[in-house]
This record gives sequence, structure tokens and C-alpha cells, in this order.
Amino acid sequence: MIIAIDGPSGAGKSTLGKMLAKKYGLLYIDTGAMYRAVALAAAMNGSNPEDAEAAANIAENCRIELQGEPDNLRVYLDGRDVTEKIRTREIARLASIVSTYSDVRRRMVELQREIGRSSPSGCVLEGRDIGTVVFPDADFKFFLTAKPEARARRRYREDIARGISVTYEETLAEINARDARDVSRKDSPLSIPDNAIVLDTSDMSLEEVFETMVAKIEENKPLGAAKI
Ligand code: C5P
Repeated sequence: MIIAIDGPSGAGKSTLGKMLAKKYGLLYIDTGAMYRAVALAAAMNGSNPEDAEAAANIAENCRIELQGEPDNLRVYLDGRDVTEKIRTREIARLASIVSTYSDVRRRMVELQREIGRSSPSGCVLEGRDIGTVVFPDADFKFFLTAKPEARARRRYREDIARGISVTYEETLAEINARDARDVSRKDSPLSIPDNAIVLDTSDMSLEEVFETMVAKIEENKPLGAAKI
């Protein structure tokens, strides 16, 4: 069973993706982490993020691995654990830039399909182009969204809990800038996939969103899907 979750930053994709992966025993693939790893590799290499060719070269030649259970997913770049390093505001900004390059996207999509198909029980992937590009034939396609203010509030709380020094206004501005880049880029812009189940989570609790997603899955679970 393949579950695709798309949507803008801060809509709850990661938390809910992990919860679904655990419930159904599926591999959890955080595709944003992969773009962040490319951005980190470019930064460590001292290359200009506006240089599409350099970014493509880095994406082609670096080794990105995701390992571990959904709750403790570790991200490795060329064998080095970069799980924490990719979670800075600067890397979020750079990831949003390098992810606009087609050659970077092509490499990441290839890798995501490879990882996804290697899991015998199936997988949950979350990102911006999963239901539109990576796995358009996924068994379930969800599009999670929420008002920018609600998403910025969540992201702000998460950052503060992580010890990151930021204001709510900065978080909102960064979310708006990333949204604008995601929806306006030429290659695979963020959009609602055909047949996706759209959930506006602005006024829903995590549990409510989770229960709604589970109910949709239970209604239409494919034959032979992982047993609960
Ligand atoms: O989801 P996360 O914030 O970690 O993603 C980092 C950036 O990578 C996003 O801002 C987005 O621009 C990009 N991204 C993408 N396609 C994906 C996942 C993430 O373009 N499938």
C-alpha cells in the first residue's frame, strides 16, 4: 500500500505521515529531508545555491539515506548523520531554492521511487509532488493544508521547542516565501493531485485529522494491504 501526503509547510504532513506509517507498518519517507540534504551538501561545498548546475551535480553525486523507525528517522549524507543539521532555517530556505531545479528533482524522484518500491509492505511518502509526480498511482492521496497563520503558529512552536531562536512574524514570512516558491516553480509545482482527499487542518486537532485519514483508508483499503 502506498500513501502519498502532499501539502505546504506546517500542514502536519510529517507528524501524520509517521502516525500512519506506524499504524499500518509502512516505511516512512520524508522527501523534504532529501531536498534538505542536497541543500546542506551544497552549503558544505561552498557552492552558490543559485547555481542550478552545481546543485544538480551535487544531487547526482551525493549519497542520501533514510534509516530507522518513523519516530526516529535518521538522515545520512555520504554516510554522515545530518538529521539535526538539516533542520535549521537556513537549510529550509536553501532546500526551497535547490528544489526548483529540474535536474535535482529528477534525481530525488528516482531515489524516492527506488526507496518506496524496496519496501515489501509499502510506504508513506510526504512532500510536495508525491501524488502528482512520484507515485501518481498511490493507493491513497492526501493533500493537507491549513491557513498560513495556523501553519506558522505550529512551525513556530516546534522551532521554539527545538531551541531555535525565531519570532512568529519571521516564521510566517518564511512560510509565505517557501509557499510562493513551491507553487510557482515550473517543474512539479505544489498542486492538489487528481483524486486527492483534501483536508484543511486549520481548525482540526491532530487526532481529528488522523482519525479522518484512517477512516478514508479503511473505507477503501486495497485488497492484500498490510493488516492492522
Ligand atoms: O518538507 P520540508 O520543509 O522539509 O521540505 C523542504 C523543502 O523542500 C520545501 O520547502 C520544498 O520547497 C522542497 N520539497 C519539494 N518537494 C518535495 C519535498 C520538499 O520541493 N517532495
